[in-house]
Amino acid sequence: NYTLGLKVTNWDQHRRNWLSFNPGFSPDPNKPRILLVTGSTPNPCEQPIGDHYLLKATKNKIDYTRLHGIEIVYNMAHLDKEMSGYWTKLPLIRRLMLAHPEIEWIWWMDSDAIFTDMAFEIPMARYDEHNLIIHGYPDLLFQQKSWIALNTGSFLLRNCQWSLDFLDAWAPMGPKGATRDEAGKILTANLEGRPDFEADDQSALIYLLLSQQDKWLDKVYIESSYYLHGFWSGLVDKYEEMMQKYHPGLGDERWPFVTHFVGCKLCSSFADYPAERCISSMERAFNFADNQVLQLYGFAHKGLGSSKVKKIRKDTANPLEVKENLNLEAGLSF
Ligand code: UDP
Ligand code: MN
Repeated sequence: NYTLGLKVTNWDQHRRNWLSFNPGFSPDPNKPRILLVTGSTPNPCEQPIGDHYLLKATKNKIDYTRLHGIEIVYNMAHLDKEMSGYWTKLPLIRRLMLAHPEIEWIWWMDSDAIFTDMAFEIPMARYDEHNLIIHGYPDLLFQQKSWIALNTGSFLLRNCQWSLDFLDAWAPMGPKGATRDEAGKILTANLEGRPDFEADDQSALIYLLLSQQDKWLDKVYIESSYYLHGFWSGLVDKYEEMMQKYHPGLGDERWPFVTHFVGCKLCSSFADYPAERCISSMERAFNFADNQVLQLYGFAHKGLGSSKVKKIRKDTANPLEVKENLNLEAGLSF
C-alpha cells in the first residue's frame, strides 16, 4: 500500500517546540510566513516555446513574491518516481513542510498560472480557523459533484498535522500505472463531466472531500470572492477593458489575481486548446502583469501582445520625489 513516507505524528507540538528554540523565526500573527512552491518537469519541454513561457511565468512569480515578502521554491525533481506529473506536488509539499517548520503556509502554484494582480494580497486573517484554502464553488462541489468544482492549480496548505494527514489521505490514487489507471475509472464514474483518463490530483481531491466530508470539510475554505485561480479563457480578452475601468488590487473579475492556463500544456504535445491561442493569451497575461511591475520603473509594454516597452514618465533629476507617488495599485496610465 502506497504512502508518502513514514507517518509523522505530533507535528504541531514538534513545530511549536522548534519555534520556541528558534526565536528568530517567531511568527508574526499579522503576516504569517508563506512559501510559494512551483515547478516543472525535469526535462526540457517537447516544444522549445514551452520553456520560454515557463521562464516568463517564473519571472512573474519572482516579481510577485519579491514585492510581497513571500519566499519561493522552484522544483524540477520527481521526488518520488511513482508520484510523477501533476501528483509531484504532494510529496514535494510534504517534504517542504517538514524541512521548513518556520513556514506557516505552503502555497502551491502551477507553472502555467500567472499572477495578474501584482497588488492584491491574500486576506490571510480570514483563514485563521482553516488549513486548506482553495478556489472553487460549493454548489458545483456538493450539488453537481463536478470535476472542476475546485482547482488544484493554486491553493494553500497550513504547515500542521492536519495537512500531513490530509496529504496521506489524498495520495493513494497517485502511483503511476495500474493504481492511477484504476482510480481514474472510479473518479470518472463518480464526478460530473470528467473525461476518461488516469487519476489526477484535482479529481482525487474533490472525490476525497465529497466522500469524507465529516473528516475534512470544517478545515477547508472554498474561496470564490477573488481569483486565487482564474480560468484563462474568460479573462484574457478583457484585460484592456479592465485597464480602462479598474485598477490592480481588486483580485476578482475586475482585475483577476491569478490567470491559470488550464489545458494549455505548452510544455507537452497534448493540449485541449490550439497552441497559438494559448501562446498569444499567455503573452497577454504576462505583459498585463509585467506592466504593473515595469510601471514602478517608468516603463510599460507597447501593447499587451508586445514584448517591446516604452517610457511612461519623463526623466527626473529628483527620483526619490517621484517614488513617493508610485505604488502598485496606481497602474492606470499605460
Ligand atoms: N508539474 C511538475 N512536474 C512535472 C509535471 C508537472 O511540477 O513533472 C507541475 C507543473 O507546475 C504544472 C502542474 O504540475 O503546471 C500541473 O500540470 P498542468 O498545469 O499541466 O495541468 P492543468 O492545469 O492544465 O490541469
Ligand atoms: Mn495548470
